[in-house]
Amino acid sequence: MKCRLCGAKKVNSDEMNTCRDCGFTMCSICMAKAGEIKQCPGCKKDMDSAYIKARQEKTLKELQSKAEKNPDNPKVLYDLGIVLYNIKNDEQKAIDLLKRSSELKKGYAAPLLSLVMLYQRKGDLKRAEEACKNILEADPKNHLAYYNLGIIYTQQRRLMDAAKSYAEALKINPKMPQAYNNLGNILVMGGKTKQAISAYENAVMLGHPRKDKLEKQIENLRKAHDGN
Ligand SMILES: [Zn+2]
Ligand SMILES: [Zn+2]
Repeated sequence: MKCRLCGAKKVNSDEMNTCRDCGFTMCSICMAKAGEIKQCPGCKKDMDSAYIKARQEKTLKELQSKAEKNPDNPKVLYDLGIVLYNIKNDEQKAIDLLKRSSELKKGYAAPLLSLVMLYQRKGDLKRAEEACKNILEADPKNHLAYYNLGIIYTQQRRLMDAAKSYAEALKINPKMPQAYNNLGNILVMGGKTKQAISAYENAVMLGHPRKDKLEKQIENLRKAHDGN
């Protein structure tokens, strides 16, 4: 059996959860990392919340005992940090664990990307920016780090830097509809209508979930552009 979310293969079926309706399999760590889940990711039917809560608590205990036995295992510390944040809302402990995890394994982007998210939620944009740059130092082709930098710079009104970051992300991975959408927004603010239209068109083409809104936006921009 293989976890459909993280791809981990677990021999122990006790650590795997299978949906009775569609057969979707998810490991217990993914289940605990997902925080509050109400529906099966496979068939979208409501799941038994009491069962999930019990499994999550069990996984948390297992991860805590693993972390005690292996205090230098970056993967265990990363998993524990996310789970503590998701099911106990323990932000500070999560940040400490994620930091330690990233220090233990140079170039391990996963805990740093989670740190970026936590700092952004706290509104600590300076630390969020630092964490993105740490990722790029070890992994200069990390499109998610560039994408998040784009968001952070936009929040700081550093629009030129934001546009550059989105462009870098898209150079590495051209299949990011959200990055095209965000880039389009910046181009509109800068009065670059033609380029904005083309960015929005790419977002639509790549299946952006708010396709209708974007198509309307493209239409309005075209009208404004032709009117000039
Ligand atoms: Zn998994
Ligand atoms: Zn299902």
